[in-house]
Amino acid sequence: MSESSGLGIVYLVGAGPGDPGLLTRRGAEVLRSAEVVVYDHLASARLLDLAPAQALRICAGKSIGHMTLSQSEINAALVEHARAGRRVVRLKGGDPFVFGRGAEEAEHLRASGVLFQVVPGVTAGVGVTAYAGMPVTHRDMASAVAFVTGHNDPEATDDHHRLDWSALARFPGTLVVYMGVTRLPSLCRTLIRLGKPDTTPAALVEAGTIARQRTVTGTLADLPERVAEAKLGPPALLIIGSVVDRRPSLRWFEALPLFGQRIVVTRPSDESDRAASVLEALGAEALIAPTVAILPLEDYTPLDTAIDGLSEFDWLVFTSANGVRHFLDRLEIRGRDLRAVGHLKLAAIGPATAEALAAWRLRADVVPNSYRSEALAAALAEQVAGQRVLLARADRGRTILKDELERLAEVIQVPVYRNTDAESLPPAIVERIAAGSVDWITLTSSAITERLHALLPDALRSQVGRSIRVASLSPVTTAAAERLGWTVAAEAQTYTWDGLVQAIAERVGKDRA
Ligand code: SAH
Repeated sequence: MSESSGLGIVYLVGAGPGDPGLLTRRGAEVLRSAEVVVYDHLASARLLDLAPAQALRICAGKSIGHMTLSQSEINAALVEHARAGRRVVRLKGGDPFVFGRGAEEAEHLRASGVLFQVVPGVTAGVGVTAYAGMPVTHRDMASAVAFVTGHNDPEATDDHHRLDWSALARFPGTLVVYMGVTRLPSLCRTLIRLGKPDTTPAALVEAGTIARQRTVTGTLADLPERVAEAKLGPPALLIIGSVVDRRPSLRWFEALPLFGQRIVVTRPSDESDRAASVLEALGAEALIAPTVAILPLEDYTPLDTAIDGLSEFDWLVFTSANGVRHFLDRLEIRGRDLRAVGHLKLAAIGPATAEALAAWRLRADVVPNSYRSEALAAALAEQVAGQRVLLARADRGRTILKDELERLAEVIQVPVYRNTDAESLPPAIVERIAAGSVDWITLTSSAITERLHALLPDALRSQVGRSIRVASLSPVTTAAAERLGWTVAAEAQTYTWDGLVQAIAERVGKDRA
């Protein structure tokens, strides 16, 4: 564990109901500086990735309703780490103060003299209902909403936590019942018995706001049977009231082009976050499994020599966004600034690389139409003859660009970052593949394709291209996949991540049509 900051504090943070995009900005901010994260079962492991790599991660609950740590063990861990001067994030599903025992934890912290802050979250009653296309209030239909726990059996007579169900049966608005799926028949029966019309619209939403969201609608009378038929289970939210009828016109999440698709992202670690966001914005679930890691160089001598001698070059050529970032960062470390590249012509292999330049207010003079080494070499051929070209790239990869340009120009190739293989895939992702709960694997280069093939257990390799579809970034990548016996179901037309995502969306659209 890293040195502590000294100020021990616990942040009770609401993680939202599942979609990692529903974490608040404040929540993200405290996670990014956390030294310890104590988390419940969360739909998204992506939130944990926001915490620094060296932060201690403590899992308090394995799955909904099954805690790995008891409440007193959780309380003790929070106090212990805060007293040691650490910044602790207690990450809880939804909102910490809505059926989350957040208040109990906060009270324990206060009693122990530990500082705490509460960062509210999007509670399921608001987030899950919205993603399922049901407004909890509506000017014409519901002017009140009640959040209710269905944890206790309304038909049990000896329960001192018993809710006043006859008041709830008369409640003039929407009823949103948390933790109600196991007692659904009893809940519906009780409300009907106490006078709520059995024709009242009702819905159950399982795993709301994430790719496997499922919704069953009906009435108080027939919902339990329909839910049993569809085999819905926890976590699920019950919504009772006429707002359920708005769903046909308001459902938007399930209508997204990639809704329900579970897609493995094999991109290098530092690009996986952006890649995942593009997928999630279209309703997919992104499963992050980087096959290569981007790291700083071990030896900067060749790069530093090139930077010190920049005035002798005519061209600076980049073949990745990483190359741009690492080169310009190093320029700064060497005590130089953008004026050092002012006299140079700049080339970028594709739009993502050009965009990385643009982030530094630099415009690429050459971006080939087709984003590959051959095309870049061809685009440069006419312009670089007899000139000095600096090729800034990863420490490994195809050498075709250097080979082609060397026939015309003086080319110096320097590594600006290191591209290393991941030693293994995240176990959770391998489990998902083995369980058949993955729809797509994305491949964005030949190296990534080969690496993924090597990392996958023997038994799973043969599923790729069959039950799991393959999406490829370009014909070069497709060829690499086919050499390994993997059939490609979608290939990007524009050789970028966005192009690849579009190709998947088109394929999914065709299947649906
Ligand atoms: N503090 C949480 C609630 C914890 S109780 C919040 O504010 O949302 C757990 C219950 O919340 C589950 O049994 C279920 O009823 C509901 N819930 C949480 N996440 C959900 C999801 N993604 N989909 C459906 N229901 C969810």
